[in-house]
Amino acid sequence: MLCKKENCIGCGVCKAVCPSDAISFVKFKGFSYPSVDFSICRTNDTCAGLCTAACPALSYKISGLSPAMYKAEGDAKGLFALFAEQVLLRGGAVCAPVMLEDLSVQFHIIEDAAQLSAVSVGGALRLFQGDAGDAYLRCRQLLETGRELLFFAPPCMVAGLKSFLSKNYYTLLTIDSICSGAASLLIYADYVSSNSAYHESVEAKLFSSLLFRESCFSCKYARPQRVGDITLGNCAEGSLLSVNSVKGVDSLKAISSELTLGKLDAEQMEVLAPRFFSATERPPLRDAFFADYEKHGYLYVEKKYLRESGLRRFFRGIFKR
Ligand code: SF4
Ligand code: SF4
Ligand code: SF4
Repeated sequence: MLCKKENCIGCGVCKAVCPSDAISFVKFKGFSYPSVDFSICRTNDTCAGLCTAACPALSYKISGLSPAMYKAEGDAKGLFALFAEQVLLRGGAVCAPVMLEDLSVQFHIIEDAAQLSAVSVGGALRLFQGDAGDAYLRCRQLLETGRELLFFAPPCMVAGLKSFLSKNYYTLLTIDSICSGAASLLIYADYVSSNSAYHESVEAKLFSSLLFRESCFSCKYARPQRVGDITLGNCAEGSLLSVNSVKGVDSLKAISSELTLGKLDAEQMEVLAPRFFSATERPPLRDAFFADYEKHGYLYVEKKYLRESGLRRFFRGIFKR
């Protein structure tokens, strides 16, 4: 019925479309997975037909043009705000992930530019997958009234929205992020609550790929045929922007006077953002990491796998963004 667990990206589309409310989400290793209550399931396979991991109609989810790639000054959060403000100024709304105090990431509908600063762009978004909740439904309700909507998310969640909608809306603009993977919130919560003296020495890269959701290592959205009209990402000296559709071109025109852009070719982009083109490689120690975590707990895996890296620096960096 639903896709295999290792392929499930946790987008929540199956739950959103189920007419029997037979699907709930359960946590496994800090990631959300659907669970079906077969006592009320009607076995109509609506969930399977729209499952984002199965990509039943990937072609309609893709935005169209060959991407035009740029480097920009300032970070991706600033770039995102420029696009979002334009939509809000025209009376539209924005749906984007926000990190809450309990460390969960949820999709909020934003109607006021003052709320844009709460949106998780860059670090936090790259790390933690958002909970779609009723966001897809609210987006459809909004689009059905004819209002403009900007939806911002990692590419798999943009694909999730497009699967859920199953039709093109002229007033929908989508921005996806250059995404390496979604990390386990369970391990992160242990990190936050632990008092280890070694936090400073943890290496971000090692930690992040060890912590990723299984499906991220075979992400079908890490490719230049982007699912969003626009793609945003950060790089060492600024931000990266890719314009992937006619809507994306028009949106960029509206803010171009506020930007200094340098054109990039594919080779330059690949050096700056390899995850624009391909999925993160699965670290050989990932299974051992989670097995040790389940058996011995956080401090054990920190000591064994993480102390050579800069975890605290990494997560501190996220909250600065
Ligand atoms: S098969 Fe139909 S009723 Fe059963 S979980 Fe899927 S969508 Fe819901
Ligand atoms: S629709 Fe999304 S959450 Fe549901 S099974 Fe497919 S990938 Fe997983
Ligand atoms: S790597 Fe792919 S599957 Fe994983 S969170 Fe990012 S977009 Fe989704």
